[in-house]
Amino acid sequence: MRGRRVRHLLLRGARVVDPARGTDEVRDLRVLDGVLLGAEPRGAPPAEVVEAGGLVAAPAFLDPHVHFREPGDGRSETVASGLAAAERGGYRAVFAMANTDPVNDRPGITAAMLRSAAASGSPVALHVVTAATLGLAGREVVDLAAQKSAGAAAVSDDGKPVLEDAVMEEVLLRAAALGLPVFSHCETPSLHPGGVAHDGPAARRLGLPGIPGESEARMVRRDILLAERTGAPVHVCHLSTAAAVEAVREAKARGVPVTAEAAPHHLALSDEDLLRTLPDGSPDAHFKMNPPLRALADRDAVVGALLDGTVDCVATDHAPHHASRKRECGFVKASFGVIGLENAFAVLHDRLVATGRVPLPVLLERMGAGAARVARLPVPTLAPGAPAEVVLLDLRGEFPLEAARFASLSRNCPFDGERVRGRVAGLLLRDRLLPGTGGQ
Ligand SMILES: [Zn+2]
Repeated sequence: MRGRRVRHLLLRGARVVDPARGTDEVRDLRVLDGVLLGAEPRGAPPAEVVEAGGLVAAPAFLDPHVHFREPGDGRSETVASGLAAAERGGYRAVFAMANTDPVNDRPGITAAMLRSAAASGSPVALHVVTAATLGLAGREVVDLAAQKSAGAAAVSDDGKPVLEDAVMEEVLLRAAALGLPVFSHCETPSLHPGGVAHDGPAARRLGLPGIPGESEARMVRRDILLAERTGAPVHVCHLSTAAAVEAVREAKARGVPVTAEAAPHHLALSDEDLLRTLPDGSPDAHFKMNPPLRALADRDAVVGALLDGTVDCVATDHAPHHASRKRECGFVKASFGVIGLENAFAVLHDRLVATGRVPLPVLLERMGAGAARVARLPVPTLAPGAPAEVVLLDLRGEFPLEAARFASLSRNCPFDGERVRGRVAGLLLRDRLLPGTGGQ
């Protein structure tokens, strides 16, 4: 079992930010047997007092989009190591995608993942995502009802788009009938065979085959049309371009049931970061992900979308890969993806909140309540009577991000070695108190 058990806790004097209630005030939080209380209970054992003056307390985070590599590649990440990374990052729940090996397209795999989560002893909830189509091949829709019975909580072929309109329509309708959200990876691969980086000046300078922004926007528009026609909701994964942001914003204004997420790397970096090459002048595979880092104007559009709610939530797209599939094999051959669970809050606080671009309560909303709405889970709050799921944040200094110290088994972090303003100082999940990144 990880963390320390606390039966009766008084968290004294934190700045308590509760986006679900629109409150932001310095006050105490009292917890008894894993539940937040409004007043001191009679007959309870004496409270353990934690002095939290100077810290921020907020509802713990939820990540609708992570990749753990179990089954298939326990060297890069297991369910247990992924949940440990989530604890350090301040998360109470994560959604694990289906592009494992074998693909999670049948109940036995969903059940095995849930067993691994239970065996890990982590208090973080694992929500399992079933593939939308068998083998992520885009042809035959998975038995979603059977997957739901086995415990699956969402549907996605993430890593690949569902190319055929008729198949995607069937996925949306069947998932809607079961009450499962669909997370759509929007990409038009025929536009960029062999593409590895955003089609722009940086890729051209480095001689890298490009991935145009239109690849994403075209499929986002297709999904919006399907959602509009069927009335079945769709959630767009890792929004990365100004054109796709505009499509989602316009669709939402018309009442189309579409939601969207953005990843920390797309909110904090751009394709210009590709020019921060390795010592030998070659591009760094830790900046290779799909969708790729886009132009500065795209990044600013995604930040604007986070601010105005066009982007409902932050999703890390935590994609661990062993070094042999990243820096060791060079940029072009490297796998797509970067890790994010243990650095998401710190990076976003540093780049967006500390710079005055996004108010802290908005970022906390997008990492908690917004993500819960997308995932159709109860919206987290720090109101009395709610489960005590609280992240403690220290925003008072600069802290080093050291991937070598992460709980994740992988090190493919584009922010490794940076000093950032803000960190997760701790996590309370019901009756368990856990350290955050940097320890406590
Ligand atoms: Zn994806």
